[in-house]
Amino acid sequence: MSKPRIVVVGGGAGGLPLVTQLGRKLGKYGRADITLVDPSNMHVWKPRFHEVATGAIDADLDAVDYRAHARLNHYRFEPGTMTRLDETEQEVVLAPYCDKHGEQVLPERRLPYDYLVIAVGSQSNDFGTPGVREHCLFMDTRVQAERFRERFLNTCLHANYRDEPVSVAIVGGGATGVELAAEIHHAVSMLKLYGHDQLDRKQLNVTVVEAMSRILPGLPERVSEGARKRLEALGVKVRTDVMVGEATAHALVTKDGETLAADLLVWAAGVKAPAFLGELGLPVNRINQIEVEPTLLARGRDNIFVIGDCAFFKPEGEDKPIPPRAQSAQQMAHQTARNLNRLLMHREAKPFEYKDRGSLVSLSGYSSVGMLMGNLKGGNFFVEGWLARLMYVGLYRMHQAALYGWPRTILLLTAGRFSRLVRPRLKLH
Ligand SMILES: Cc1cc2nc3c(=O)[nH]c(=O)nc-3n(C[C@H](O)[C@H](O)[C@H](O)COP(=O)(O)OP(=O)(O)OC[C@H]3O[C@@H](n4cnc5c(N)ncnc54)[C@H](O)[C@@H]3O)c2cc1C
Repeated sequence: MSKPRIVVVGGGAGGLPLVTQLGRKLGKYGRADITLVDPSNMHVWKPRFHEVATGAIDADLDAVDYRAHARLNHYRFEPGTMTRLDETEQEVVLAPYCDKHGEQVLPERRLPYDYLVIAVGSQSNDFGTPGVREHCLFMDTRVQAERFRERFLNTCLHANYRDEPVSVAIVGGGATGVELAAEIHHAVSMLKLYGHDQLDRKQLNVTVVEAMSRILPGLPERVSEGARKRLEALGVKVRTDVMVGEATAHALVTKDGETLAADLLVWAAGVKAPAFLGELGLPVNRINQIEVEPTLLARGRDNIFVIGDCAFFKPEGEDKPIPPRAQSAQQMAHQTARNLNRLLMHREAKPFEYKDRGSLVSLSGYSSVGMLMGNLKGGNFFVEGWLARLMYVGLYRMHQAALYGWPRTILLLTAGRFSRLVRPRLKLH
């Protein structure tokens, strides 16, 4: 009898831990054929993109090579971008695969499945604001984060040569915008150590523009206030209640007609799921997220799961849907691995229960701030400073441990410490 085929599309914060668990539990024992599809050959954890953007980490050194990881964890990796779904034939359609010069390497392919998991994440939502696609930089993919780094380093080189200030305007006071603003300050102080003698943090002009009345609007007020104070202490300007109506080549124009000029414009406001999801024939909401049942099966389907940022799920009795966060994607991955196992044993899939463990926002090497939802004393507690920073770093290590196991994670951590002794403290090109 042929083995059931499980195809997971998207190897991010949700998809990669999922195939790892499935490979170890099912693939290893020949109970299922598991395939991961992703357009990239390497996985970089998305919550670290602001560090890739400023050179605080070298993405190549921190990336997971899908093929090598697949071999170790008993699944198969197929490079490709899903474009369509043929539910009648139970096949995923992948676009022709091209190299970075645009040359076609593989033709369009069809990948058969018995069970499909869609985990393709999300991207920024420009809400149709004129000029944003043309003039703003984004943080949605590794390529975009690296494009920011290139532009940022060139701007700093130029500013150092001319002894001029560097200005960056970031639209969106969510975690991405706040973390990037702090990281830029850190990068400029590092660049001074590497020949940019004229460059000074005092010449750095970073503005975070937020449409709501406070930054980090999705988090408790105390966390917003803590982050605002720390950003302002670094010299970051925090502008709240400001709506951006247009972006031009070198400025943001607010709905009130104010012009905020900057060398670099970054758009990090809001999220939406990729547009192709709206054309698959599955039920979607207005931002292309696929609507799922409590089991995380797409509404009305019995063999298509959807997890992470591209899933829309509002638990009964709650007034808000599950937020698009790494911890949501990881928890959904865990439940889906268990449910797939249950379905293969002809048992029913169980409902997903989200446990909000709180949120931490990194303010670069300087600090972190956040709220932990704990059961220690039954309540929530506010954390900041080095303790919060330690916990924030711990989150990434936990992601690594889910992929490699703790012994390898500790080896990676140790190797990283040693290589920092010989490498520059910032990726400089
Ligand atoms: C700068 C930044 C900082 C963040 N900080 C935090 C934080 O501190 N804490 C937190 O909880 N969350 C944070 N987030 C949000 C978090 O990264 C996401 O919620 C999380 O990554 C979602 O996981 P996912 O698996 O749904 O999608 P992703 O991790 O985005 O993975 C999606 C994967 O799908 C692949 N893919 C996309 N389209 C296709 C296709 N058509 N076919 C095949 N594959 C495809 C992509 O290549 C990618 O590998 C941050 C996000 C950013 C951008």
